[in-house]
Amino acid sequence: MRILVTGAAGFIGSHIVDAALAAGHDVAGLDDLSTGRRENVADAAAFFAVDIRGREAVQEVFREFRPDVISHQAAQASVSVSVREAARDAEINVLGTIHLLDAARETGVSRFVFASTGGAIYGEVPAGQKASEDTTPQPLSPYACAKFAAEQYLRAYQAEHGLSTCALRYANVYGPRQDPHGEAGVVAIFARRLIAGQPLTLFARRTKDDDGCVRDYVYVDDVVKANLAALNGEVDLAVMNVGTGIGSTTLQIANLLAKSLDAKAEILFEQRRPGDLECSVLDASACAARLGTPTPLADGLAATAKWFAAQAL
Ligand code: NAD
Repeated sequence: MRILVTGAAGFIGSHIVDAALAAGHDVAGLDDLSTGRRENVADAAAFFAVDIRGREAVQEVFREFRPDVISHQAAQASVSVSVREAARDAEINVLGTIHLLDAARETGVSRFVFASTGGAIYGEVPAGQKASEDTTPQPLSPYACAKFAAEQYLRAYQAEHGLSTCALRYANVYGPRQDPHGEAGVVAIFARRLIAGQPLTLFARRTKDDDGCVRDYVYVDDVVKANLAALNGEVDLAVMNVGTGIGSTTLQIANLLAKSLDAKAEILFEQRRPGDLECSVLDASACAARLGTPTPLADGLAATAKWFAAQAL
């Protein structure tokens, strides 16, 4: 297949490019390099330095590369930036997505896979419960609103133009190459600080000294697998959660990373941060039924810690 990966210079997109090349596909990456790095994109992939807010430039990429399918990862991916700059967030995450959808339908793309967010779109998930694909989204940030809006455009283009679309709602994704600003940024922050021998700040879930917020942490390889399966039709759903179904506290992340790095975690307990969801865990049974058991947290964190340690040398 000819696969266009947007956000190819970012964390998740660059891993999708690597896996798609390894599977023998023809791959092009698109990225405006606003947060991504050119060196993340494998040399064997074509690369277009393009901002998805530019309609003409996007159309030109599709005319030149003629993708069969598209994995759309490019985004303003920070919740806190979206709070400060909601209009810019929407320009990239909503309008940019529409530009790609238009170019996709005009050039006969057969499958459009979109990186949505299970971590943010459902809002607060009551402790002990899991948000399934049928749970009504309750977006609480401009970022989550934009992702939800983009999902509705996917549905509309599928209904109106017959464009086959799939929104993958990722939990909190961690792994090599992640940066501190994404939804699972705590993994990168803690790994770097442990390696530098610095204390870790743990923001409370509710009251100071608790174990911190509960999140569903999914390893990047599992997200890549979901993307490739959605692109080739093995996953034929219009919406699918991509997570583990297991909630972990921030303290558990700190302890597992410290163990992997053979470091001692000195933890500074802080008050709850306004705006942080207390709990978010996904029902990932549809994903597991199609792709198998996700990577255990301890294994994924060990591989991630190893990568951060190698970067620090
Ligand atoms: P990332 O920031 O590493 O990658 C996003 C890429 O998009 C960057 O390389 C950036 O340069 C590029 N980009 C930003 N604005 C652009 C524009 N206007 N035009 C072209 N390229 C642009 O983020 P990531 O963690 O790899 O996330 C990938 C996707 O997954 C995003 O859509 C994000 O919203 C979604 N997501 C991520 C997580 C997570 O935990 N990391 C969770 C849920 C959803």
